[in-house]
Amino acid sequence: MLRWSLLSMVLVGVLLGAAPTARAFHPPLVVLQAGHWRSAELPDEFSRLRGNTGAAAGGVREVDLNVDIAHRAAEYLRAWGNEAYVLPATVPPNYRADAFVAIHADGHANRAARGFKVATSYRPWIASDLLVRELADEYARRTGLPRDWRITHNMRGYYAFNSGLYQHTIAEDTPAAILEMGFLTNPTDRAYLVTHTDHVAWAIALGIARFLATRPAEGWPPPPSFPRDDIVEVLHDNVPLFDGPGREFNRVDRAARKERYAVVERRPGWAKLFFWSGAERWIEDFQTRPITIP
Ligand SMILES: [Zn+2]
Repeated sequence: MLRWSLLSMVLVGVLLGAAPTARAFHPPLVVLQAGHWRSAELPDEFSRLRGNTGAAAGGVREVDLNVDIAHRAAEYLRAWGNEAYVLPATVPPNYRADAFVAIHADGHANRAARGFKVATSYRPWIASDLLVRELADEYARRTGLPRDWRITHNMRGYYAFNSGLYQHTIAEDTPAAILEMGFLTNPTDRAYLVTHTDHVAWAIALGIARFLATRPAEGWPPPPSFPRDDIVEVLHDNVPLFDGPGREFNRVDRAARKERYAVVERRPGWAKLFFWSGAERWIEDFQTRPITIP
């Protein structure tokens, strides 16, 4: 009887402890996404990104560099006892891993712009924040490239992070980061990236390995949940977003065709969109259609 209750206490403890936490793989499973790779094959929901091969300068195409470095980094990670895969632009639905890192390089009209960036989604979650920190620290230390802090919306709103709104994304409980390795349009960054390709890949792999070593034995605390009850898709380009439910409010942003949002409140003719920042953004109903994500 005592043994049984002890056993059930342990079982309950295991269930309670395991259920709400992010799953961990053994050996750790790392997924590197080579940015823009095979972007022509992107599914309908991301058709706006099809055919994009990213930045290009000095005879270097971003996509080619991304593919090369992603494969080299995956090789290092495998050599250190992890499971590691390279994915193209298309992520299988609800893809789950211990770490997901999208690999990109920047371009800018201003050739003086340089440095690397690391970011994660707007959603606050300690696991992804730690991945960003370890990756950025190790990358800076090993490459000596300067850090560029001008994180863009395209990075924090990266399509593959948008679980809950799209199908072909990583799972909600997968720690994720996007790395811009440096500017191809900057001669110094570009020269470094093309002549130190293997070293750059090693730096990325080290950062990811350092993150994996920080995983708590009981798993990560669960990520904050995303509202999924009411999802809409924007029907047109340049649809204005207002800071209140009426045209008399300020136009504060725009939405693009096929972008999806979660709705958290409805008023006649208006829908309030969900943003992790808590920003107040309303859209007119007729500019959207409701969708269901399988
Ligand atoms: Zn890119």
